[in-house]
Amino acid sequence: MTQRRHHDVVVLGGGSAGGLVAGELARAGRDVALVENRLVGGESPYFACVPSKSLLASARRGETWELAVARRDEVTGHLDDDAGVAGLAADGVRVVRGWGQVTGPGRLEIDGAEWTYGDLVVTTGSEPAIPDVDGLADVPAWTPDEALTLPDLPRRLVVLGGGPVGCELAQVYAAFGSHVTIVEPAGGLLIHEAPFTGEILADALRRMGVDLRFGARPARIERCETGVRTWLLDGGRVDADRVLVAAGRRPRVAGFGLETLGIEVPPGHGLPVDDACRVPADGPAGVWAAGDVTGVARTAHAARYQARVVVANLLGRPRAADYRAIPRVVYTVPTVYAVGLTPNEARAGGIDLLCAGYDLAATARAVVDDNERGRVELYADRAAGVLVGAAAAGPDAEEWMSEIALAIRSGTPLSLLTDVVHAFPTYGEAIEAPLRDLAERLEGTHV
Ligand SMILES: Cc1cc2nc3c(=O)[nH]c(=O)nc-3n(C[C@H](O)[C@H](O)[C@H](O)COP(=O)(O)OP(=O)(O)OC[C@H]3O[C@@H](n4cnc5c(N)ncnc54)[C@H](O)[C@@H]3O)c2cc1C
Repeated sequence: MTQRRHHDVVVLGGGSAGGLVAGELARAGRDVALVENRLVGGESPYFACVPSKSLLASARRGETWELAVARRDEVTGHLDDDAGVAGLAADGVRVVRGWGQVTGPGRLEIDGAEWTYGDLVVTTGSEPAIPDVDGLADVPAWTPDEALTLPDLPRRLVVLGGGPVGCELAQVYAAFGSHVTIVEPAGGLLIHEAPFTGEILADALRRMGVDLRFGARPARIERCETGVRTWLLDGGRVDADRVLVAAGRRPRVAGFGLETLGIEVPPGHGLPVDDACRVPADGPAGVWAAGDVTGVARTAHAARYQARVVVANLLGRPRAADYRAIPRVVYTVPTVYAVGLTPNEARAGGIDLLCAGYDLAATARAVVDDNERGRVELYADRAAGVLVGAAAAGPDAEEWMSEIALAIRSGTPLSLLTDVVHAFPTYGEAIEAPLRDLAERLEGTHV
């Protein structure tokens, strides 16, 4: 019997976004195929979020490296690909293993066989950005994928990049005894966030013995008698056993035929989507996208958010994505949490900004927890009387800052937020003082 090769919806890529789109649509009765060439589940459970958080948790518990690796592999092993396939199949999704290559409006090839679709959902994710450094290709270098699957603990590690992934992995290896150097061309860590977050994290990493080289650009990397030598543009050098490239990720937009739909994406950009996550394309078939491939989402939770937007629209329930309050978290100790606009973004957008901050050390909870440190800052739009952004560095900030995401997303007036009571003693109390401060400064502007 020949197999049917048409589906109402074909989802290209079975990661955080694709799996959700396919499962939800199939549960709603739609005829869906999902194409995946590697592991169903994508980056997050096998190579990114889950293994890195497992290692960070082991480091916090003071476990040995061997135990940490065993736990990591057990955790990711539980989320095995067969179970993912079985779950989707139970929902009614047809899972097709192979590389999907779009060949024109309504058509694609999967490992050479032609298939057709009514709507295409592109959820192909992203890939590591490899900086153009002379010699990098010839030395033992890891991307996060390799670091998070191999059992090696390098004695000396040089991390290229002081962004969220570079900081998390630097902390992992430093906690287990590696001598870690971060080489970051900018003037500090987490340069896209409010500066205090990177400063607090830099202090924490330095206390663990991490060598931070800011304003340092690698010029050349070569093998040397003791391992790998990274020459910096200023003439300095860093010797290590291994290089970890953590220079960000690029949306995966090339190599699978988007140009046959009239879609051209400039280098380094994501697939352009409108508020409904629809991609302008040639032909009658609908093209949609969600997740890292859009360049708008850079986290698993943002990928799933866009996926839900796609599902709603494909089920005829019009929904527009709203990106005002998508959290950004670095799961180090201390945790860095940010949501909404940074002060720079707000000012660049012409917002008359009010900022207020508070040191966590002043909370009773921090005293109970043996003088924990950290800080929270809130950013308000003076004209609108609402929060537009916030950032925090402190223990479990990803948990107690969630209400700020809700406040930003819902546009809750500051006057109402100041009336919210937090349990004593918690870190959540830390947001009360800056809220009152902002509300007082607004008084007179708003009745
Ligand atoms: C080290 C690290 C730590 C991270 N930690 C976190 C975290 O703690 N929290 C968080 O929210 N985010 C985290 N992220 C980000 C998160 O992993 C991604 O945002 C998320 O995986 C994106 O999901 P996605 O569905 O867009 O893409 P992916 O999960 O990458 O899925 C895309 C899938 O498409 C497949 N594919 C691509 N092209 C084709 C094709 N032509 N045919 C067939 N299949 C194809 C790929 O094989 C892949 O499986 C982390 C990332 C890294 C690197």
